[in-house]
Amino acid sequence: MPIKKPYLFKTSVVLFAVLVMIIVTWAGGYYSWKFGIEKLHINSQQQLDQFVSHLDARLARFQFIPQLISKNMLLVDLLKQPDSSPRIDIVNHFLEDINTIIGASDTYLMNSDGLTLAASNWQKEQTFNNQNFSFRPYFIEAMQGKTGRYFALGSTSGKRGYYFAYPIIYATHHLGVIVVKMDLSNIELNWSNRKIQFIVSDPQGITFITTQPKWLYQSIKPLSTETLKKIHDSQRYNGVKIKNMDINELRSVSSQSSILKINDNAVNRNKEYFAIQKNMPYAGWDVMILAPLSELRKKQFNTSIVILLILIVSLLVSFLVWQRLKRRQEREHFQQEAQKQLEHQVAVRTTDLTHEIDERKRTEKTLRETQDELIQTAKLAVLGQMSASISHELNNPLAAIHSYTDNARKFLSMNKFTQVDENLCRIVQLTKRMSKISSQLKFFSRKSNQMMEIVSIQHVIKSAIDIVSHRYKNSSSVISIQNNLPDLKVRADIIQLEQILINLINNAMQAIEDKNQGKVIIHIQQKNQCALIHVDDNGLGIELKHIEKIFDPFFTTKKTGLGLGLSISARIMDIMKGKLSVCNLPSGGARFTISLLIAE
Ligand code: ADP
Repeated sequence: MPIKKPYLFKTSVVLFAVLVMIIVTWAGGYYSWKFGIEKLHINSQQQLDQFVSHLDARLARFQFIPQLISKNMLLVDLLKQPDSSPRIDIVNHFLEDINTIIGASDTYLMNSDGLTLAASNWQKEQTFNNQNFSFRPYFIEAMQGKTGRYFALGSTSGKRGYYFAYPIIYATHHLGVIVVKMDLSNIELNWSNRKIQFIVSDPQGITFITTQPKWLYQSIKPLSTETLKKIHDSQRYNGVKIKNMDINELRSVSSQSSILKINDNAVNRNKEYFAIQKNMPYAGWDVMILAPLSELRKKQFNTSIVILLILIVSLLVSFLVWQRLKRRQEREHFQQEAQKQLEHQVAVRTTDLTHEIDERKRTEKTLRETQDELIQTAKLAVLGQMSASISHELNNPLAAIHSYTDNARKFLSMNKFTQVDENLCRIVQLTKRMSKISSQLKFFSRKSNQMMEIVSIQHVIKSAIDIVSHRYKNSSSVISIQNNLPDLKVRADIIQLEQILINLINNAMQAIEDKNQGKVIIHIQQKNQCALIHVDDNGLGIELKHIEKIFDPFFTTKKTGLGLGLSISARIMDIMKGKLSVCNLPSGGARFTISLLIAE
């Protein structure tokens, strides 16, 4: 199965992070160690210099004393007459005094054979007197005319001591040697109990001064049996068994310093030290300072652990932050997707709606066109319905005009001008009436331009009644107007408002045509900001089941009806921002109400 890419990426990131952590932790530990060693180096160097100065100062105290004493003639006299007891006594006292004054361990005089003739400890049980120290290198050196210097354990006292020897020269003869021994027993006393340790070793590498007592009289270099035998023979260490110190150089830091490992034989545990050494050339000593590295190791370990912990915490924090960011990104992405989807849905829906709106607009336009056509058709139908009465209305005045003209001519021939004038006046009145009828018809049949204007309701009602009244001249029914009509003005298309009223009056008249005392009454009423025109009749009213669909196109209960009048009238009212409504009157009969906003 192929490994998924994200998994591979995550594994690489984790491995990389682990690698970085290892490198940084190691680097932290490394530099902590490096800086620690540098600091230790400086500190140890200072301590070493101080310790060497301390040793130098101690040795310097006695360095020239043997040479000074050698000039004393008492010593020469004794060496010339070694068997003279008084002289021995004198020199013994002299050396004792000198020894006390200089604070040395012992001061003694040897003859040229190495036999001690006089000594400051002449009174002590273990006096050097009569002892032969010719085997001591300092004696040999002094006899050669040099200043003898030597470290050794006292052959009688077993104490560590440093010997300064100088020849007693008389007339170029080396008669003997004067020796001053200084005590080194407590030389490291003030330097112990420190964290760092000191080792002073002789040219063979055997330690004889150290702040660590268990390291005393051990060899820091491996010694051959031959060398060991030589040391033994020199009696320098007074028969003390010299052991090899378990010391190994791990790494050299500089020419003078290195890192050492010393095994503590007692507990068989290795201990690391930073070592730095210095040579004391005239004493022939090597001074080494050993600073334990356990604390530095601990510090290095702690630094590494702290760095590792910081890295782990940083990594965890980074991981958490990364996860949070990722989650936020996912959330944002999800929200963006959802928004996109929503926008897409809205866009689709908007397109659908736009199509729907376009479709509706088209339908509305078609409907309006159809309705306009229907209005025109309805007008023509009304016109057709009225044509009989119209022709009747026109024919009657025409016939009258004809007879008045004939009469006028006759009166004219008879020179009866007054009668002629009377007839002509009647003709003028008749033509006025005819022109009025004609103009009303013209208005009725004219297609409206939908000109909205401020019109007087009174005027429109009167005009409508004028138009229809001729038709019902012979009817027993009455069209009446309420007394004291308030003069309200509305904004309307006067022709269309007139047509609606004519239509309503016609319907009302038809509803009462079989009635004996049929009545159509027109009221005007003001209600709030509206002017109401009620067209009431006292017919049978409208059946409840019909009342809801009365304004539907083609709804009719008449045999020859078209059912368009009310629907078109209602539509025209809508256009004029008015309303056409219907109800039955409590007294019987129907009430149609035109409602229009009163014009300011
Ligand atoms: P038409 O007069 O051609 O039938 P209309 O739209 O004018 O068409 O009228 C629709 C119907 O409303 C009429 O057929 C009639 O039944 C009813 N109607 C109208 N006016 C009245 C009225 N004043 N009284 C009773 N019914 C009426």
